[in-house]
Amino acid sequence: MSGAPDPERPDSDRLWSVAEHLDDILGKIRPLEPIELRLLEAQGCVLVEDVTVSVALPPFDNSSMDGYAVRTADVAAATRESPAALTVIGDVAAGSGELPAVGPGEAARIMTGAPLPPGAEAVVPVEWTDGGTGAGPAAAMRAHSAAPEGAGGQVLVYRPAEPRAHVRARGSDVRAGELALPAGTVLGPPQIALLAAIGRATVTVRPRPRVVVLSTGSELVPPGEPLGPGRIHDSNSYQLTAAARDAGAIAYRVGAVADDAATLRATVEDQLIRADAVVTSGGVSVGAYDVVKEALGEEVEFRKVAMQPGKPQGFGRIGQDGVPLLALPGNPVSAYVSFELFVRPVIRTLMGLPSVYRATCRAVCPEGVASSPAGRRQFLRGRYEPPAVAGEPGTVTPVGGAGSHLVRALAHANALIVVGEAATEVAPGAEVDVLLLT
Ligand code: AMP
Ligand code: MG
Repeated sequence: MSGAPDPERPDSDRLWSVAEHLDDILGKIRPLEPIELRLLEAQGCVLVEDVTVSVALPPFDNSSMDGYAVRTADVAAATRESPAALTVIGDVAAGSGELPAVGPGEAARIMTGAPLPPGAEAVVPVEWTDGGTGAGPAAAMRAHSAAPEGAGGQVLVYRPAEPRAHVRARGSDVRAGELALPAGTVLGPPQIALLAAIGRATVTVRPRPRVVVLSTGSELVPPGEPLGPGRIHDSNSYQLTAAARDAGAIAYRVGAVADDAATLRATVEDQLIRADAVVTSGGVSVGAYDVVKEALGEEVEFRKVAMQPGKPQGFGRIGQDGVPLLALPGNPVSAYVSFELFVRPVIRTLMGLPSVYRATCRAVCPEGVASSPAGRRQFLRGRYEPPAVAGEPGTVTPVGGAGSHLVRALAHANALIVVGEAATEVAPGAEVDVLLLT
């Protein structure tokens, strides 16, 4: 492969800016078609329907305390010295279907969440009673939970109760017919709880994209196997699979394919059946074994992007369904930075998520950066410390150098320091743009 301009594609040798490359990619990505998923499968996905409530929450008036369901008139004059003595007519546990009617002078022992029985107007907590023991509130609480049956005895109530005291009213959370969650909501644990509470077993959401990850290189050996001469462990397929999952995808790690164009082509074609996107690493520069270019050059456009690391990038849509394929460079740091900048937004656009980009901020770089390539946007690995005082900038310190093979430094970074195209250095103590990786 040579870097000479292709006469068929006069643009092929031009330098693309990071933004141009990203815009070109995202301009060709549409969110996935919605499907119906069971609640836990829909976690992290975007709801595409307005969910309305079919049953009120709570569905019936119920007790917010363990105690006694009473008529307020019966306890209106109750004091410690002169308690109201009520006949306990039965127990109401959570889930009780048949409810005893509470008449004048009567009380029903009731548990948290149990339906308020007919006739009762309030619940007095067990702490306000003797628990049916005649022995005061502390014993009352023990007795209340220990006693097998509440019926037949008597309870002393020491305080009056307002009407509806300790009663959670039907519909006080949400009423039937109200909107529970609007379309566009990202389903986290509380939203899933609400859906379950109103009885929804499935919801219509945009699914997580299935992302197939494969690395290329005849030098690659899976971790766990010994290295022969000149061989290295395949870290990219693990890194990119983990990153794809982290971005929200269901990721399939295919592993390393040898530097053979026919094998690579066949492997990619085999994978298309289960792919909403394909990510490859390696084989995109101008070396003799740059198989990705050779195997996929018809559908995938390879270009130079004005960034460091990660200058060579490939993007195209392959197969009958036009599955997006991003071909990333092979150096592990280049692959990672490329993933963060280009693949993560693709995954999140496919999911229809409202925010597809990582958060950015400004931070002081006490060490500065001695030199940065002109005309290229540089992404250095850094450790970001949030500010001690809210509102002031945090600090960021480069870890490792600019070398795109420095995996350990990458593993100790939590941010990328962005040095703009025009800058050739950052003075110590100057502010820089930071892309937060967590
Ligand atoms: P390439 O772009 O294929 O020439 O790869 C560039 C550099 O990254 C070479 O030193 C490769 O050995 C290394 N590399 C490529 N793929 C991987 C991988 N999957 N895991 C670790 N290093 C890799
Ligand atoms: Mg290679």
